[in-house]
Amino acid sequence: MKAIAEPAAATFASLRSSMAELRAGLPLSREMAIALLRLDDGLLPELLRTAIVLKDRFKPHCITYSRKVFIPLTTLCRDYCGYCTFRRDPGQSGAHTMSPEEVLAVARAGEKLGCTEALFSLGDKPELLFPEMRQRLRELGYSSTLQYLEAICELVLRETGLLPHANPGLMSAQWLKRLAAYSPSLGLMLESTSETLLHPGAAHDNAPDKVPAKRLQVLEHAGKLGIPFTTGLLIGIGETAEDRVDTLLAIRELHSRYGHIQEVIVQNFRVKPGIPMHNWPEPSHRDMLRTVAVARLLLGNINIQAPPNLTAPGYESLLDAGINDWGGVSPLTPDFINPEAPWPHLQDLARRTRAKGYDLRQRLPVYPEFIPAAVAGGSALLRSKLAALADDDGYAGRAA
Ligand code: SF4
Repeated sequence: MKAIAEPAAATFASLRSSMAELRAGLPLSREMAIALLRLDDGLLPELLRTAIVLKDRFKPHCITYSRKVFIPLTTLCRDYCGYCTFRRDPGQSGAHTMSPEEVLAVARAGEKLGCTEALFSLGDKPELLFPEMRQRLRELGYSSTLQYLEAICELVLRETGLLPHANPGLMSAQWLKRLAAYSPSLGLMLESTSETLLHPGAAHDNAPDKVPAKRLQVLEHAGKLGIPFTTGLLIGIGETAEDRVDTLLAIRELHSRYGHIQEVIVQNFRVKPGIPMHNWPEPSHRDMLRTVAVARLLLGNINIQAPPNLTAPGYESLLDAGINDWGGVSPLTPDFINPEAPWPHLQDLARRTRAKGYDLRQRLPVYPEFIPAAVAGGSALLRSKLAALADDDGYAGRAA
């Protein structure tokens, strides 16, 4: 198929003609996508207009979000990502592995506030590095973090009206299958396919679980198993425009083979005190808009979300770039990954979304079109909970 050409000097006229071709259905080449990530600010509105057209063709009327509680099952992690403020070593202030009782207390409090998702975000396999974690797991009756997570997902599913979404780092095919029995969707941020981020001094130089090939393998295993899967990219951590496009293309290629990528998150790096990258510049808002728009152009009919709390104030502008989902938003728990960035109030989210011409609709952690896949891989308990929580359209219900 003919692909549109890269406008050598991106003039307004050449860009308009390229955008018209994209809206008519011609594919976006890698080279053109890279050029669009470097587009002059003055030409950005034309790119955004095209992204909106494609988004509205895909999901025209509503923007979704998942009302969640954030459960940091353990803050211990064997990796040391340069941008992370979440992870702890044993003995550090904030180092903690939650007990089942603590998890249930948070889940039940969230249930009272209408939450339908228990997001489990946690450090990657801390027991491989820390004897303290091995001891804690022994006390709890488990031999690995994933085994404990599996039991906790089953507990929350059985005892509450919340559906787990587990995001525990690298998982084998066997663990993907086991967790999918109790978690209707699973997640792993690809972040970037760039190998240079593993180099000394770069964001992933001491993060053995961030080797791109290992993460791509998880996405591939999930695809072969047909598990609804959330992934995404983290922008502004030292990657190039080429890296961003290649990351999106890798996700698209896996989805084209297996059809299992339920959403792609475009997340922007936020600087925080105390992290190794505390002097690193954040990506600009326009850079974020350009990246979201290029993601929409490359990914077409794949759900795209961007977290509203990382683009405050004025987060509603992300809707202009073609997202169709706000991701998980909590009325109860902070964003433990970005504790400096509070979630917007749900009424504010609904108001700003309506002002852009869309309804805000609460979804489950699994998107409606992926519920059949979740049912196929789920336990009887998960199937019964999904049947109870999903409305006729597969959503959680209308937002306030
Ligand atoms: S980003 Fe995740 S894998 Fe990296 S250090 Fe933090 S918790 Fe660990």
